[in-house]
Amino acid sequence: MSRLRLRHAARGALAVLLPLALLGAATGPARASAGTWAAPVVSRVETTDPVVFLTVDDGWFHDPAAAELLLDRRVPASLFLLPGAYAYDSGYFHRLLDHGRVRVENHTVGHPDLTTLDAAGQRAEVCGARDAHLAEFGDGPRLLRPPYGAHDAATRTTARACGAKAVVTWTHDLTTWGGRTPPAPGLKAGDIILLHFNETLEQDLERALALADAAGLAPAPLREYVPE
Ligand SMILES: [Zn+2]
Repeated sequence: MSRLRLRHAARGALAVLLPLALLGAATGPARASAGTWAAPVVSRVETTDPVVFLTVDDGWFHDPAAAELLLDRRVPASLFLLPGAYAYDSGYFHRLLDHGRVRVENHTVGHPDLTTLDAAGQRAEVCGARDAHLAEFGDGPRLLRPPYGAHDAATRTTARACGAKAVVTWTHDLTTWGGRTPPAPGLKAGDIILLHFNETLEQDLERALALADAAGLAPAPLREYVPE
């Protein structure tokens, strides 16, 4: 190869490498603060504080006893609600927001597996729920929990475009499913616990709080622990 052709080859390689380097910078550690790229996926929070995070999904079953527990013990739970689940009784959640320490977060409009939708479909689901929450509660959600925990690259950019700073999954599902008590994990600082608004929510909350207490951990507000 002549010197001239070598120089051309080198320049060609550089032209390929440069955009890759820029891409690497944009999707690397600086991503979270970039603001416009993709939201990070969070299944537990890196923290040395003795805290755990309680999250409660969907919102269909409005158990008064579970609400009393959340209010009495001032539990800073994150509620990932579906708009349809408060359309017929929003008072249940307004009371929790007005008198408790809960926040309402995003769980989409129709609970689809987001990975089956294209970017426009995902955006309709996620921004739609954001708009509904904002209209009902006057507070826009900042966290997105994708139904079934299913997410792809489009989910992460969609989350950011619809005002969420993170896509939040979970560390432990402590929901009683089908009458079966889930195994008791050794909770660690930063763990995210998944519960649901179902018939067993009060006892599931009691159990999660007792497990946290036994591990020397207290519930903390997840939104405040996820960086912008
Ligand atoms: Zn759900």
